[in-house]
Amino acid sequence: MLYFDHNATSPVHPVARAAWLEALDRFAANPSSPHRWGARADAAIADARVAAAHLLGCAPLDVIWTSGATEAANALFAHAASTSTGPALLSAVEHPCVRASAQHWFRGRVEVLPVHPSGVVNLDLLSHRLSHGDVALVAVMAANNETGICQPWQAVLELCRHQRVPYACDAVQWVGKLPANGLGACDFVMGSAHKFGGAPGTGFLKVPRGFKPFLRGGPQEDGRRAGTENVPGILAMLAAWQHREANATPGAIRQREDWRDAFLGAMAAELSGFESIGGSVPRLWNTASVLMPSPADCRRRWVAALDRAGVAASTGSACSSGQEKPSETLLAMGLDPSQTDRMIRFSAGWETTEADWLELLGCVRKAAGFLQQPARVGESALKE
Ligand code: PLP
Repeated sequence: MLYFDHNATSPVHPVARAAWLEALDRFAANPSSPHRWGARADAAIADARVAAAHLLGCAPLDVIWTSGATEAANALFAHAASTSTGPALLSAVEHPCVRASAQHWFRGRVEVLPVHPSGVVNLDLLSHRLSHGDVALVAVMAANNETGICQPWQAVLELCRHQRVPYACDAVQWVGKLPANGLGACDFVMGSAHKFGGAPGTGFLKVPRGFKPFLRGGPQEDGRRAGTENVPGILAMLAAWQHREANATPGAIRQREDWRDAFLGAMAAELSGFESIGGSVPRLWNTASVLMPSPADCRRRWVAALDRAGVAASTGSACSSGQEKPSETLLAMGLDPSQTDRMIRFSAGWETTEADWLELLGCVRKAAGFLQQPARVGESALKE
């Protein structure tokens, strides 16, 4: 089976697995315990904090460990809503966990920042809105999970700094694929281990000074996030992240973009009705987000046919793929619902090879063949 669903979850990397197993043995105690075993576990996550801060470019005490990005989004919006009466300004392509957290904590105080048809946030509108004052927080992600399209987060940061408005950057899809350095200058940064080869259920949040806890009930993380820290998860995340950073060289990235683009070129040449999304702007090297030719109930049927042909691919965001609603991201880019119903996302990992992309091409051809056959009686469109 070819795995092209790394934007949903990337399998645990061997370096993370080794770090996780080693931590189970070496740091078995509670980091808050007063004995030397506890102190040893506490020192291990303190060292990890220093290393994470180094990768982000911020101070170690700015980093807190979380269970992942959904918790981080809730924590940062809960904090921001309690410290200002102004609205939260969100790009129209944010992940559902960011949108839903903002709507909950800023009830009635959420404004949406449009994107251009290219998928890139409209900086002129952001600048104009910020100049009118009163904004509590800006949230613009670093890279989109469905399309891979990268946002100009450095420019967003500049505009926010100029107006002294806090900036929250969902860097979940960026971290581990592109260098993280510089992200630490944002007020809030969210990352999630299972997107880059760490263990699921672990993440981090970079916070500003004076951050108030979302989870309460213990003094952990300097009183900013209650709950016993997941020591093996944190050390595994860090091992995977450092490994990815070491490999994210311009040459390695360019090579992977070429493999992806060769696949897209071949698809466009032979599949009428095929379109690629996000080709005109910077996007993640691993993501090929495409509109497929359209049988009825298109996305579900393509995913099922691809599965039958030996490929794990996705309809987009893992969190919304079960619901089969039109993608908010694609609607925000001006696509209509019938187009959004044709969207399939192929997302590669660092270990995906050129041969895998070539094999994917063969599998898509095979899946197209399955979709041209009349459905057999009793055959369901989707196995799951
Ligand atoms: N933000 C983005 C861009 C994502 O892709 C995801 C996961 O799909 C999340 C946030 C949520 O991350 P987690 O699974 O850690 O809650």
